[in-house]
Amino acid sequence: MHVRRTYPYVMLGLMMGSVYMPGCSGDGEPSESTDFLAAGEPAPASRPATDTAPATQPAEPWFPPSPPASADFVNERHHMVETQIARPRDGRTPVTDKAVLEAMRSAPRHVFVPPERVGQAYFDHPLPIGHEQTISQPYIVALMTELMKITPESKVLEVGTGSGYQAAVLGQLTPHVYTVEIIAPLAEQAAGILREQGYTNVRVRRSDGFWGWPEEAPFDAIMVTFAPEELPEALWEQLKTGGRIVAPIGPARQTQHLMVITKTPEGKRETTHVIPVRFVPMLRD
Ligand code: SAH
Repeated sequence: MHVRRTYPYVMLGLMMGSVYMPGCSGDGEPSESTDFLAAGEPAPASRPATDTAPATQPAEPWFPPSPPASADFVNERHHMVETQIARPRDGRTPVTDKAVLEAMRSAPRHVFVPPERVGQAYFDHPLPIGHEQTISQPYIVALMTELMKITPESKVLEVGTGSGYQAAVLGQLTPHVYTVEIIAPLAEQAAGILREQGYTNVRVRRSDGFWGWPEEAPFDAIMVTFAPEELPEALWEQLKTGGRIVAPIGPARQTQHLMVITKTPEGKRETTHVIPVRFVPMLRD
């Protein structure tokens, strides 16, 4: 039985549009970018007044999306959470955050993998998604999500949309998800699946994530799902004070360290090494 959680949440009309916006380009600037919004109407050119002063708005409950495909593979998803994530038997640190486990039980991973891989969608490993990219192992998705410490008030950025699955998991936890992908067909496909599955709270942009998403900054939490050798400076700049970045940092095509980088109230950088990992390399426009 799926138990819904409700949260006080100020509704943002901004999330509900669908628009194509050519990006900017120029020296040292992000190159062309394309936004894919979730559904419906054009986005307003600027943020509505309600969006600038959320603290003064009456809180309304927020319901996480109910993706239609979540009705399928229910047992497989529960088994995945139980055996790979909440109680792995092989020494991996269990993921215990209840909201994260619920998000992993809800997000329909099988619609984000290529059709010929649907039978493996809930297996304990990454899968190819084309263009030499992969959808991360479910455990890594859950672990990185837990490390983000998201609440429904969090505004989060994912860099490296890939299949869109990680963005969907984030979209189960907060109404404010932004995700950027450098490979246009992946960005477009992920945006389409997210839209079909009702993730109107996830905005997808085709751009080089090295530059973050400056128009939507600052973010409470930022997740990087490819391996830069060093943290891109723009991501640090777009992080709120007190916020955190979860990223695999290290040399391409070798082992990297999954790191949590926090911005202290004094604006200082604090870094924690979590586990060794292997991620796909960072690409650049
Ligand atoms: N989070 C994804 C996993 C994607 S793998 C999922 O749930 O499926 C990493 C992704 O990062 C790939 O799709 C790759 O194309 C993308 N990527 C690599 N370099 C990038 C960059 N500079 N900006 C944005 N995306 C990038």
